[in-house]
Amino acid sequence: MNARKISELQNNIFMIAGHGSSSHSYVVKGDRLNLLIDSGLDGNFYSLQEGLLNIGLKVRDINIVINTHEHFDHIGANRYFQEHAIIAAHRFAATKIAMNDRYVTLYKSGDANELSLYVHVWLESKSRFDLGNYTLDIIHTPGHTSGSICIYEPIKKFLFTGDTLFAGGTLSYIAESGSVGDYINSIMSLNTRQIVEIYPGHGEISANPGEDIKAALENARQFLNKNEEVTITYENDLNIIHKKN
Ligand SMILES: [Zn+2]
Repeated sequence: MNARKISELQNNIFMIAGHGSSSHSYVVKGDRLNLLIDSGLDGNFYSLQEGLLNIGLKVRDINIVINTHEHFDHIGANRYFQEHAIIAAHRFAATKIAMNDRYVTLYKSGDANELSLYVHVWLESKSRFDLGNYTLDIIHTPGHTSGSICIYEPIKKFLFTGDTLFAGGTLSYIAESGSVGDYINSIMSLNTRQIVEIYPGHGEISANPGEDIKAALENARQFLNKNEEVTITYENDLNIIHKKN
């Protein structure tokens, strides 16, 4: 088992980098409760557990898990938390997760998960988590999927973006329930906020959100305008749109 790279991004906010196709997990150690953003692949749980121990937390010390959306590489290890922690996801993600919809959650891609997953709290835009030292606001950002959210910290102005916005503006695969039109609208609404750093579900974090947003909008519009000239290639969840030469 390879140890996961752990970075402290802000005081008491940690990134536990994902291995392979697993999403990153982010941990917010709150004054009152501890919160995990995306549990990652089921198969990577033991390295997540080790990562949590490295920052002084046991699995049972996580009180809340937020899923940025319904894909298997973000929710797979929920089952190790759902008996003691509150699992929260946008209502359009919750429907799919709680109904075990293995088609839209991409479980057809293969991460084993034998148990039913629960979602205890269905989120909407403007839902807020108050952890004392940090306040986290939910922003519904459909596009990659219908149930995608970003999570915004309004004081220090950083944003957890899931698969909605990546460093460099790389466009994620638009999944079955997603839409490029929704995606553009979501990115434009993010663009109305002050954002200092983004913490995405895959790849590097970014301190240039303005550039990432601009590139993401350009990529999405190009995808719409030249739809016949592009193909979508699948590399698990982090899928990149490639132009045909
Ligand atoms: Zn995804």
